[in-house]
Amino acid sequence: MAVEQDYYKILGVEKNASADDIKKAYRKFAMKYHPDRNPGDKNAEEMFKKGSEAYEVLSDPAKRQRYDQFGPDGVKFGAGGFDFDRDFTHGADLNDILSQFFGAMGGMGGGRRRGGRSFFDMFTGGGAEEDPNGPEDGADLQYDLPISFEESIFGTTKTIEIPNEKDCPDCHGTGAAAGTSRETCKQCGGTGYVTTRQAFFQMRQPCPVCRGAGTIVKTPCRTCSGSGRLRDRAKIDLHIPRGVETGTRLRVAGHGQAGTRGGRPGDLHVVLHVRESDLFERQGDDLLVEVPVTPDVAALGGDVEVPTPEGSAKIRIAPGTPDGKLYRLRGKGAPLVNGRGSGDLIVRIAIEIPAHLNSRQRKALEDLKAAYEDRSYPQARAYRDRIATFLKAKESLSR
Ligand code: ZN
Ligand code: ZN
Repeated sequence: MAVEQDYYKILGVEKNASADDIKKAYRKFAMKYHPDRNPGDKNAEEMFKKGSEAYEVLSDPAKRQRYDQFGPDGVKFGAGGFDFDRDFTHGADLNDILSQFFGAMGGMGGGRRRGGRSFFDMFTGGGAEEDPNGPEDGADLQYDLPISFEESIFGTTKTIEIPNEKDCPDCHGTGAAAGTSRETCKQCGGTGYVTTRQAFFQMRQPCPVCRGAGTIVKTPCRTCSGSGRLRDRAKIDLHIPRGVETGTRLRVAGHGQAGTRGGRPGDLHVVLHVRESDLFERQGDDLLVEVPVTPDVAALGGDVEVPTPEGSAKIRIAPGTPDGKLYRLRGKGAPLVNGRGSGDLIVRIAIEIPAHLNSRQRKALEDLKAAYEDRSYPQARAYRDRIATFLKAKESLSR
C-alpha cells in the first residue's frame, strides 16, 4: 500500500488550516493510529510514523513555511530541518511520544503545560489543556541527600525538609482578592498568546502581558500578593533501605512540586550520595578492606581481625603470606537492596614494616638477619640470579 505523502492530506486538513485545526486533527489521528492501539498492525504503524512527521512539520510555523514552499525536501534539508530518521514507532509509549510534542508546543502556549501530565489526560480531559487557568500538575523534584557509609549499609530513617510551594488558601491559587476574580487579558483576548509577523511567516508567542495565562489579576490577593502561591515546607520521613549506594534513587510519590489550582503534585526523587568510609571501599556489591599485618605474623601465620557488616570476624593467614594477598569472604559484603544476600568482603593483606624499634625488636631483627638463608627468600635469590645473568651478557658483548 502506497503511503500518502502530502502532510495536509495525511492529517486530513486543508492547506490553510489554522494551528489549532492541525493540533486537533493530530489528536484524532494519534488516537486512531498509535501502535499501542493497533498492536501488530504494520499499516497503522506506518501511518502513525507518517502522521507524526506531518504534525511535527505542520505544527512548527517555520517548518510549515518551508514545507509549503519547497515540499518535503525544504524541511528535510533546511536549517534545523525535521529529522526524518527519528523513529516514532518503537521503544516509546504513547505518553512519551506525545509529551515530546507537548514539550515542543509548550513554547507556543506560554510554557504552562507540563510533561508530567499524561497524554490522555491532556487530550481527553479537555478542560485542563484548553483552560490556562485550570488545574496544573506540579513537576517532579529531585533532592540530593548525603548519607554516611554506615547508613548506606545498615539502612536508616531520615526526616528531610523539602522547600515547596502551595496554593494560597485565601484565593485558592487564583491570586485574585476575595470577592474578585481574574479578568480576561485584553492584550491577547484570553488566548494567552500573540501572533507576530516576520518576513514570510507568522509566529505565535506567549502573551507578554499575562505571560500566557490569558487572564490577569486586577485586585491582588493580599496574602500572596497576587501570585496565588505561598512558600511551604514539607517534612518527610524517608526510609532508606540497607545496601543503597551513591546514585540510588528513592521515589516519594506526591511529594514533588505542589499542583496549582488543585492540580496534582509531582513526585519527589531522592538521590543518595554516600560519603566515603575510611575503613571500607565499595566495589559494586563487594566491600574491600585493607588489613595491616606485622611481618612476623605474615611469616609465621596467624589470625587477623577483619570487620564485616555483621560484626568483627577473624581470618587465619597461612605462614609465608605475601604482601597484597587477597582473601574473599563470600556473602560478607554490602547487603543487596532488593533481595536476599550480600556481596563479598575482599580482604587485602598489607604488611607493615615496623618503625620506632625498641632494643628487643632491634636485637630480634639483627638475629633474623644473621640467620639469613637463601631458601627463605626465593624472590631475593631470583633477583640476584637475574643481575648475574645480565652482567655476564654485558661482559660477553663488550669484549
Ligand atoms: Zn492569595
Ligand atoms: Zn494576555
